[in-house]
Amino acid sequence: MTAIPYYHRIHKETDVFEHAFRNKIPCLLKGPTGSGKSRFVEFMAHQLGKKLITISCHEETSSTDLIGRFIIKGAETVWIDGPLTTAVREGAILYMDEVAEARPDVLVAIHSLTDHRRELFIDKLGETVSAHEDFMLAASFNPGYQRGFKELKPSTRQRFIALSFGYPEPKIETEILIKETGADPDVARKLVAIGNKIRNLTELGLAETVSTRLLVDAAKLIHSGLPRRLSVHVAVVEPLTDAPTTIEALRDLADLMI
Ligand code: ADP
Repeated sequence: MTAIPYYHRIHKETDVFEHAFRNKIPCLLKGPTGSGKSRFVEFMAHQLGKKLITISCHEETSSTDLIGRFIIKGAETVWIDGPLTTAVREGAILYMDEVAEARPDVLVAIHSLTDHRRELFIDKLGETVSAHEDFMLAASFNPGYQRGFKELKPSTRQRFIALSFGYPEPKIETEILIKETGADPDVARKLVAIGNKIRNLTELGLAETVSTRLLVDAAKLIHSGLPRRLSVHVAVVEPLTDAPTTIEALRDLADLMI
């Protein structure tokens, strides 16, 4: 028996996902990096007692990577199912992380799985596979409110129900830090205060701001004995920017708060 992944429910997202699963509706998790999307899916897969298959999508991810390919084995050519086909056949939850990054043929390949047909066409085999009762598609997407992130076409988006993820309110985020790392409550509160202070400094024009993940990392370093300020510098400040003046300003600010 694997351990239950720790996930702090923020609103009613667990109910929504469960109902989406029951009704065979794909689910899109929207939100910035490090906001708990992957952890949420791990938790839900565990809750529903289903296997989770994750694909981290990037610009080279093609439908072949997902569906499968022929490989040469000795004197034979054998077909190997890709992760999508495996999930469709076995009834697993397939989580496509950062789905907008994948090549367009990936989105085409999943279309027939996201509507009433629930089937996958494997052109290289000339075979159409009907999805297992329990197959569910989940995907994550980082909304394109800043440059550099790809958009998702409305025709794709509208095949999913969508849940928004953000950074939890301070009380909950503090609790997450404590539960996740064993951090001292006072340290956790201070880290969350630093996170929120930096999140509010919109004038810095950071591409992405302090995520829960960065705060968790800082809490882990402190908990394992690294000095507090150094931990915040390396886990929170440095990952955010490379601009020397911004780094300096953020370090000064953080030093005052921890
Ligand atoms: P994303 O998939 O959105 O990039 P993750 O799910 O990897 O983010 O979350 C990053 C980290 O933040 C997790 O490893 C976990 O430590 C923490 N985290 C964020 N939100 C939660 C939450 N609601 N419950 C528990 N841990 C959380």
